[in-house]
Amino acid sequence: MKIQIIAILSLISINLTFAQEKGIINNGKSPYVKLRSVNLGDCQWTEGFWADKFKIAEKSMVPYMGSLLCGDTGHALNNFKIAAGLKEGEHKGMHWHDGDFYKWLEASMYIYAQNGDKKILEEVDQYIEIIGKAQEADGYLQTQTQLRDHVDRYENRRFHEMYNTGHLLTSACIHYRISGQRNFLDIAIKHADLLYTIFMPETKQFGRFGFNQTQIMGLVELYRTTGDKKYLELAERFINNRGKYKVEHHPTTQGYPIGDMVQERTPLRESDEAVGHAVLALYYYAGAADVYAETGEKALIDALDRLWENVTYKKMYVTGAVGQAHYGASTNRDMIQEGFINEYMMPNMTAYNETCANVCNSMFNFRMMGLHGESKFADVMELVLYNSALSGISLEGKDYFYANPLRMIHNTRDYEAHANVTESAHREPYLACFCCPPNLVRTIAKLSGWAYSLSDNGLSVNLFGGNKLDTKLLDGSSIKLTQETQYPWNGAVKITIDECKTDAFEIMVRIPDWAVGTKLLVNGKNAGVKAVAGNFATIKREWKKGDVISIDMPMDINFVEGHPRIEEVRNQVAIKRGPVVYCVESPDLPKDTDILDVYIPGNAKLDVKYNPDFLGGVSTINGNIYLRSDGGEGMYRTIKKPAWKTLKTQFVPYYAWSNRGTAEMTVFMPVVWE
Ligand SMILES: [Zn+2]
Repeated sequence: MKIQIIAILSLISINLTFAQEKGIINNGKSPYVKLRSVNLGDCQWTEGFWADKFKIAEKSMVPYMGSLLCGDTGHALNNFKIAAGLKEGEHKGMHWHDGDFYKWLEASMYIYAQNGDKKILEEVDQYIEIIGKAQEADGYLQTQTQLRDHVDRYENRRFHEMYNTGHLLTSACIHYRISGQRNFLDIAIKHADLLYTIFMPETKQFGRFGFNQTQIMGLVELYRTTGDKKYLELAERFINNRGKYKVEHHPTTQGYPIGDMVQERTPLRESDEAVGHAVLALYYYAGAADVYAETGEKALIDALDRLWENVTYKKMYVTGAVGQAHYGASTNRDMIQEGFINEYMMPNMTAYNETCANVCNSMFNFRMMGLHGESKFADVMELVLYNSALSGISLEGKDYFYANPLRMIHNTRDYEAHANVTESAHREPYLACFCCPPNLVRTIAKLSGWAYSLSDNGLSVNLFGGNKLDTKLLDGSSIKLTQETQYPWNGAVKITIDECKTDAFEIMVRIPDWAVGTKLLVNGKNAGVKAVAGNFATIKREWKKGDVISIDMPMDINFVEGHPRIEEVRNQVAIKRGPVVYCVESPDLPKDTDILDVYIPGNAKLDVKYNPDFLGGVSTINGNIYLRSDGGEGMYRTIKKPAWKTLKTQFVPYYAWSNRGTAEMTVFMPVVWE
């Protein structure tokens, strides 16, 4: 027994000695993690869906966004220059605009990690120098308050200082991991040290300070980067403070909703319902997951499990989107914005589904996958990525959606009231509230870092896409793989071992939850492992160069219905093929067709066709729909049997809608069962 324990302990210490420390989240040495990050740059997309998206990020999304943020349209760099005394002018943009700039710098670094283009690094270094000059002597760095002389530091949490801090720390850690340079990291450390002196003492003044708590994730990464435990303590303090104080207005809370909106009604460890602003909630949960990875506190992971189940099974759209309403109330009757409302209350047209919230959902799931080592979390990551994340940006990578509803009807919403802010009928080339675009673009740019994780003795295949992996297992042995696939348009994936150790190790292949009936072979033979949908299929053997894993996922075209309690989709279906959700939109319908007249026959014969030159290369689904032609008047109407016209049309991936001009669109369609 003793020998066994010693053997296990020595195994752990060996593993941690060779842990990788340059991942998107550096959980290489975190004690309570089952799947750990692979170093940035070790996985490179080669061909297919994500390789194409990465190329667009490299050539268009990131450079175009740089021209916005470093120019006068975005004014983000200007804010830093003015604070640095290098330029005359005033602060422009939302309070969280510094954070938007940090996210864009982070995206630039992910591109650099892949292509090694030194010009990117030089450009980023110039901006870091300006940021450094904007930083005050004691470490404070928030242009939105520095440039407004009527605002004091940490006067009011609505100025989003914690949010900007979080993105500063994260971006600086990523910059350090990829470049090996300390210039940005030193700015972050100086800033975090100031934060520690102000927020670590328990004071009533700052007990409820902060929301949109990206600083928790940022502090944990800074702890992981520097090894200084005080950053972890501070991260935990922000979790412990939440829900501890009486919910009533205070000088630091004026001007923004309180209570559930900012997750301060219930302490996290007692929470069982996701409430309030969806971005705030999911960044908070993601930060708590990072803290758990270091502390292993059971109450924390139990709460995160409950919250994950609540979001995933009761408050998430078929596209993986979250945050049902722009305005509403929590079940405690607190006013909420851009957030969660009741379970199963899932409006389509008025769904808010902020791009950031959807991206945060995938970030939270990436962390939960690491903690539990289960593939169901990667299923949500993938659902978000192919649907409600990518829908936030045009195919060219230069126009953005902030809100991602599942149905668009132009005459039922006053878009002018929100024009160019957060809701619009089509994608916009710039959003005055710019949180979403850099959040999404950094995610697309870093995605190869999510494709694989390291297990104790092997690795997991989390995402599918043509790529090459060249990394090391936790025992320090080299592993090289090639993945070839046309996923998600085709369900066949081939993984070839190019190099590996001689000892046995495991390869965990994710079998998506929808992929019932997947065939899994090694070198053309039964792998001896069951491919169970919604689980990792763990193949442990003595691998050798040239071994081939073949995964064949059934790519059926399926109708999806909602839980009977979702009133908004009763007797309606969405079309889904593999991880991709489809929609029908006006360019594929006769002119002036009302999208509300689209019905689908329950026995519709649907077929799929790959179109390499349409919408950036997509599989469309083709088949008959019904167009209702007996429209009536008034709120309620007498009806006998509706009149229909049959139309052959195509369905396009939801993420690719609104790329052919302003359009109406619907994901869910009423079904006529015959
Ligand atoms: Zn956003």
